[in-house]
Amino acid sequence: MTEALHAVSTAQRPLRVRIAPSPTGDPHVGTAYIALFNYVFARKQGGTFILRIEDTDQERYTAGSEAAIFEALRWLGLRWDEGPDVGGPCGPYRQSERLAIYKEHVELLLARGGAYRCFCTRERLEKLHAEQTASKSSHLGYDGHCRDLSVADQTALLVAETPFVVRLRVPRDGVTRFVDHLRPEPIEFENRLVDDQVLQKSDGFPTYHLANVVDDHLMGITHVIRGEEWITSTPKHVLLYQAFGWEPPAWHHLGLLRNADKTKLSKRKNPVSIFHYRELGYMPETLLNFMANLGFSMGADVERFTVEQMIEAFEWSKVSVGGPVFDPAKLEAFNGADIRAMSIDALYDRLQERVLAPARIKALLAQAQERVHRLDDFIPYLSFFFGGSLDYAPVLDKIKAPAGKSNAEAAQLLDDYAQEIERDNQARSFTAPALEAFSRDFCQRHAVKPKELFMLLRLGVSGRTASPALFDTMALCGKDRCRTRLRDLSGLLRQRG
Ligand code: GLU
Repeated sequence: MTEALHAVSTAQRPLRVRIAPSPTGDPHVGTAYIALFNYVFARKQGGTFILRIEDTDQERYTAGSEAAIFEALRWLGLRWDEGPDVGGPCGPYRQSERLAIYKEHVELLLARGGAYRCFCTRERLEKLHAEQTASKSSHLGYDGHCRDLSVADQTALLVAETPFVVRLRVPRDGVTRFVDHLRPEPIEFENRLVDDQVLQKSDGFPTYHLANVVDDHLMGITHVIRGEEWITSTPKHVLLYQAFGWEPPAWHHLGLLRNADKTKLSKRKNPVSIFHYRELGYMPETLLNFMANLGFSMGADVERFTVEQMIEAFEWSKVSVGGPVFDPAKLEAFNGADIRAMSIDALYDRLQERVLAPARIKALLAQAQERVHRLDDFIPYLSFFFGGSLDYAPVLDKIKAPAGKSNAEAAQLLDDYAQEIERDNQARSFTAPALEAFSRDFCQRHAVKPKELFMLLRLGVSGRTASPALFDTMALCGKDRCRTRLRDLSGLLRQRG
């Protein structure tokens, strides 16, 4: 039996925790949630909070999202002690700069017998997968074909430059067991159901599992506090620690944030970008307090508290993992209460930070200048640049599906538009020229006339038939406000059927 019961020994090392986000898309509220608990625990114990960027998956990488992670966490006030931008004794803190380290560790694992080279072709693996799926096999995964290749066979394949991956040699029987400090019973996985995980891809890049474990070890991480979606990866990590002969960290898997219907928190049902909440005027300390309540109980029905108070009161026994529901109405109520609790001076200062930041106001005035007659017109003219959802009642009859498309198809078009922007490295930046180029190309690809799509976009984003130049309007409204409104508009079209 493979065991990793380790509660005692980690306590003897200096406490070090980390968050390890992957720079894929906008920074997610789930990242903030995990960061909060790591941060609070580190501060409570006088430990070190590390930010590591896990960017080895080049296919999922999106430009600019590393900087966005820094920006979002800084806005929330969750300061890290070591990281790619601030440095530290265990750097580099960006995995793409550590490739030589992973290579070295793969060699070490191969030498220790904890991993093996697999030369199977993609065709063979696809065939295997198809067969396993067709026969409803209980084991979906690699069949171990290359586990025991002789040294001579391996050498011949290597000499012939046959591409290979490196896989974890998972024991064929027994169980892998680990303690999760947030769950009453140790967690067990039957080894025969754990796949011989690929650790190094044929291009020489490590997979998440290898890089994550090597880095956690080399960075001296004592407690891994992460979302429960990683529980199924943990047996592989435990086996890796064993294969290397290293002491594993103490595992704490926090509950996964959920929509009201208990499904995993998703873009489709809730905005999940931290920037959405910043853009729409939620305050960072309120958002943190709201998220703290999702997993931490201050006790005695106390819901409103600061991060400092949470640090003071923090104990793992006050943390629960039962499916925390991200309820935007509750966040809204908290934010409203916090606005009411501020002095007018404090409120005024707060508004200057973003909503009425001088640079923003000047950019808006530049858009309105040509179109208003009286100074007093500026505010009503610019009103749609503020706030979240709009009232479309005055323009309902103008909202029409493009020629030849049903309402449902038009709704889908808007959903596609919002989604594709995310995948377009230029358009994601949400500048007017990038939006224009993207939108024209989108029209071609989706066989829709620019005039028709642009009118829909304008109506959706501004609630008006006329506004400043469309793409300037969108850029100044900001991605999150636009996304909210386009989602509203698509919902409206869909409702019409
Ligand atoms: N890179 C993983 C993520 O994107 C890290 C998971 C972990 O904390 O081990 O969340």
